[in-house]
Amino acid sequence: MSKIKSKILGDMPSEEFKKYGYQLIDWVADYLDNIESNPVLAQVKPGDIKSQLPKEAPRNNESFDEMIEDLNRIIMPGITHWNHPNFMAYFNSTSSGPGILGELLAAAINANGMVWKSNPSGTELEETVLHWFLDMIGLPQNYFGVVYDTASVSSMHAIAAAREHTGLDIRSKGLSGLPKLILYCTEHSHSSIDKGALTLGIGLDGIRKIPTDENFAMIPEKLADAIKGDRAKGSVPFCVVATIGTTSSTAVDPVEEIAKICEREKTWLHVDSAYAGVTAMLPEMKSYFKGMEKADSIVINPHKWLFVPVDFSILYTRKPEILKRAFSLTPEYLKTTEETAINYMDYGIQLGRRFRAIKFWFVLRYFGVEGLKERLGEHLRLAKLFAGWVDENPNFERLAPVYFGTICFRAIPNNILSENELNILNEKLLDSINKSGKLFLVHTKLNGKFTIRVVISGLRMEERHVKLAWEIINSELVKLISS
Ligand SMILES: *Cc1c(COP(=O)(O)O)cnc(C)c1O
Repeated sequence: MSKIKSKILGDMPSEEFKKYGYQLIDWVADYLDNIESNPVLAQVKPGDIKSQLPKEAPRNNESFDEMIEDLNRIIMPGITHWNHPNFMAYFNSTSSGPGILGELLAAAINANGMVWKSNPSGTELEETVLHWFLDMIGLPQNYFGVVYDTASVSSMHAIAAAREHTGLDIRSKGLSGLPKLILYCTEHSHSSIDKGALTLGIGLDGIRKIPTDENFAMIPEKLADAIKGDRAKGSVPFCVVATIGTTSSTAVDPVEEIAKICEREKTWLHVDSAYAGVTAMLPEMKSYFKGMEKADSIVINPHKWLFVPVDFSILYTRKPEILKRAFSLTPEYLKTTEETAINYMDYGIQLGRRFRAIKFWFVLRYFGVEGLKERLGEHLRLAKLFAGWVDENPNFERLAPVYFGTICFRAIPNNILSENELNILNEKLLDSINKSGKLFLVHTKLNGKFTIRVVISGLRMEERHVKLAWEIINSELVKLISS
């Protein structure tokens, strides 16, 4: 009796695990080999997937064969394929073989790195790969790194450290009764900065959007004026967020000049380079990152453009003791005696943390630094090529400089004149491109203009995909203006 019971309880038997494990590895390999046979953007309507799923969890166990069948039949048609080489929307992020295998191991080992001893290898591997990456992007080794899930969360922690840095003991007393704290960024900063400020009680009124120049970059003189004005009113300027590679147009705020102002004003400088930061690995890109080494904190997302599966965002800070002071609290059961070891729980709001370092370690070792640089270099080359096609074609107009792998443009066929008509036309164009299923793009608004964005950063993108994208855009435009 007890023998039978032990068979029913407990985990999937290892024979079965191996059988389906091998089957799923084959599934993944075939999926990636044939990725281009799928429509890039899921061609489904809201509710289509849910309506095919049971209303309740299964009462009794089901076979793995059925699960794989439902995966193929119900789930896969509702997938937007981020790994597809014609996924050129948002900031693309693609996974890679070594990254996928790293995720598999992280789930299998499932060590929760709250404190050093709850996952010593995880803690020390994280420290090690984050030090490697500092070298790779040319930052000094005095930065402390910590991995969070997303840039939004990394930046929220940076703003919390900036708040702690004021010395107003907000940690103990909270914000009430204090002068107003002010954070500075631009209208092109990522919405996660506003969300972080909201979360931390700064309030939307505590965020100043500094004016930008014709290339959408922060104007340092305007920042200096705003800080001065706020001080005169008795407010406390506590944090400046500069972006290297904004989300709309990949604009680059002049970090070196902004850093000088922050130094003078004793204000925390956070650099958001979630998307573009990985390109600091390339010598020809160094000029965009001038002054970054003066930042108090920096966020870079290897899950965006370094082929690490989501999620993997790095926050670096030169002042880890302040980040720690903002968050550390140690209940009795988590007290440790390993004084010299890092307990990552001290550097953020979460206690439990996944063993994320393993997938980054695999990606860095499998491709090597040179291999990663070559891949990024090719994306930058393809982006320049695409920008050239836009510039040469009188039916199109480029709307922002191309610094990285993103091209912002719109159609301007000569029979349409008003800005409003152009906006409507470009919106229609984008819609028909995405409905084709062959290419997926998103838009932004720049100076009120409906702007189409092409992002080239996928691991599987080759010149033929970029050519195909350009052909699709042109043929959809022809269809639209001749209809
Ligand atoms: C993508 C992006 C973010 C947000 O990244 P998540 O990891 O999705 O939170 C923040 N800032 C910039 C500049 C980005 O490009």
